[in-house]
Amino acid sequence: MAFLHRSIRPVSTLTIALSKGRIFDETLPLLAAAGIVPTEDPETSRKLILPTGRPGVAVVIVRASDVPTYVRYGAADLGVAGKDVLLEHGGDGLYQPLDLEIARCRMAVATKRGFDWSGTVQRGARIRVATKYVNTAREHFATKGMHVDLIKLYGSMELAPLCGLADAIVDLVSTGNTLKANDLVVVEDIMPISARLVVNPAALKLKRDGIQPLLRALAAAVVDRRKERS
Ligand code: AMP
Repeated sequence: MAFLHRSIRPVSTLTIALSKGRIFDETLPLLAAAGIVPTEDPETSRKLILPTGRPGVAVVIVRASDVPTYVRYGAADLGVAGKDVLLEHGGDGLYQPLDLEIARCRMAVATKRGFDWSGTVQRGARIRVATKYVNTAREHFATKGMHVDLIKLYGSMELAPLCGLADAIVDLVSTGNTLKANDLVVVEDIMPISARLVVNPAALKLKRDGIQPLLRALAAAVVDRRKERS
């Protein structure tokens, strides 16, 4: 598949995989600083391959959790994926040269307000935890020597403790408004999360002339943005 893909595209073409929403919106200014501006908005266009103002560079719109897969198989040369997604995916076969410092949030454990989390942990009681991030959660609780039953969910995790499906959830928290609206509170911080640039290692070699200047421009844009904020 990867060979077919390469044979029908000129080597100079660069494809960047992005997911709609927060990652797309926050990557846009960084790409613009590198001279790459998509000519259509994925929120209004139904196109999944968006041309950009720079000839030979296209953006493909994929689901956030599919970004590592597209880049790993070389269907996209580069992509932007949250650290949460990369931890779950494993990140195998991906070069991760740059923390873009966007889509920042934290991964945390939350329970219903009033749930005696520390008491339950101290008693060594079996705890049920619902999450989309089963690998990250498993590792977190294993490191703490805690035995938990993990329940994999695909949609709103916040609902699980409210319906008695789980005692706790592991989820991303940004403003904290979603937890608050559902009477949930953070009981443990797991790690800070932000989006990373991922690159296909073979593309980095074969398309070095296209990719290296882009990496440099993106790294400079990240530094400029950090300076603006401080
Ligand atoms: P908030 O109410 O701002 O704390 O946002 C929480 C909701 O947004 C949860 O459903 C999270 O899964 C989701 N969320 C927050 N930050 C991110 C992020 N950086 N990437 C993806 N989803 C996020």
